[in-house]
Amino acid sequence: MTMTPTTLWGNVSDQQVTCIACGETLSREEAREYDKYGDRWNREGKEFESLCKPCHRGCCQQNRDGLEQTLLAANAGRTDRETFLERFCELVANDNDHD
Ligand SMILES: [Zn+2]
Repeated sequence: MTMTPTTLWGNVSDQQVTCIACGETLSREEAREYDKYGDRWNREGKEFESLCKPCHRGCCQQNRDGLEQTLLAANAGRTDRETFLERFCELVANDNDHD
């Protein structure tokens, strides 16, 4: 068996991911990885969250601590995606009320 880069990394171009912030479905190539552990090079046993480009840009411009708090408050990784997205959207909407 020959290990080419393709067999090593898998063919990701067909895979679809969901943006954790807005729920948009996009191809994995288009998505930006969001690693809540802040160490994207240690990939073993990890499942990366994905963000679409506009949300990724928004997160990078926001206070990252605030985003992390919002993700935790929304039970990121500890609840099913639908519930998480619902809560996340609520929390973000509440945040915007304060501004
Ligand atoms: Zn998004």
